[in-house]
Amino acid sequence: MRLESFAQWRAEAEARAIPLWQVVLEYEMHQKGRSEAEVWAGLEQVYAVMRDAVEMGLSEPRQTLSGLVRDSGKKLLHPPVHVISPEFSLLLAYAMAAKETNACMGRVVAAPTAGASGILPGIYTFLGKHHGVSERTIYEAMLIGAGVALIIEQKASIAGAVGGCQAETGTAAAMGAAGIVYALGGDTTQIFEAVALTIMNMLGLICDPVAGLVELPCVKRNGSAVGIAAAAAQMALAGDTAVIPVDEMVVAMGEVGAAMDTRFKETALGGTAATPTAQAIARKIWPEASQIRYEDPPV
Ligand code: SF4
Repeated sequence: MRLESFAQWRAEAEARAIPLWQVVLEYEMHQKGRSEAEVWAGLEQVYAVMRDAVEMGLSEPRQTLSGLVRDSGKKLLHPPVHVISPEFSLLLAYAMAAKETNACMGRVVAAPTAGASGILPGIYTFLGKHHGVSERTIYEAMLIGAGVALIIEQKASIAGAVGGCQAETGTAAAMGAAGIVYALGGDTTQIFEAVALTIMNMLGLICDPVAGLVELPCVKRNGSAVGIAAAAAQMALAGDTAVIPVDEMVVAMGEVGAAMDTRFKETALGGTAATPTAQAIARKIWPEASQIRYEDPPV
């Protein structure tokens, strides 16, 4: 039982005339030794936790001990001015709210990681609430997302410490984009195009958490990542293409991650984390720690 490339995944599904999600379902059963009923029950539980995380982030005051995270999701529920459609704003709100629940030590599903734990809850909640997508279809979309992550994990990385934020929020966004396209009736080509387009548009994103806390820019990036996922899904469903095959984009993601300086891999030494304001915040939060000064960046 293998799931090592998008081409192989498609070939397996087409040769047996089964949906993409069924290949992943069988992989799960085979790898984890679970029955089919156990896999579906697990997905049901995961979706419940995801929806709770969104709900909690939107209904309760959210502020982390550091103060870096403060009700970002709630602010997007009723913004005074709409730059994007009210529905699109809600998609961002759901994702940021779920990530805030994580930053405030609430229960989330780390899919694929805790840093990116708002993206899939935001997308699935949005599909259920605003597109009337059934729970069963969302579970199938989750399986497709799991297949996307399995391949990226093998060929690139899903960890910010290894491949930068493109690996975390980028992978989650790619999983979500695939799910959106699937849930809204797209075919295999469109699903894989959405993944390729998402990776293409998140390539090179660094991991630079302020004070080493998975809060800032993480919550904001969960919001922007669902925007990119939705854009990629929209492009794919409109018949647009990434031109570059999805398997090649995954290799490119791995190459970029490998070439990334360690400052940009969760060390909090570069990017946003190295700005003077972020350094001052870090000194306040960790007065004992010797932070590398912005004026003296590592080379
Ligand atoms: S900035 Fe780093 S810690 Fe934060 S979400 Fe991105 S990869 Fe995760």
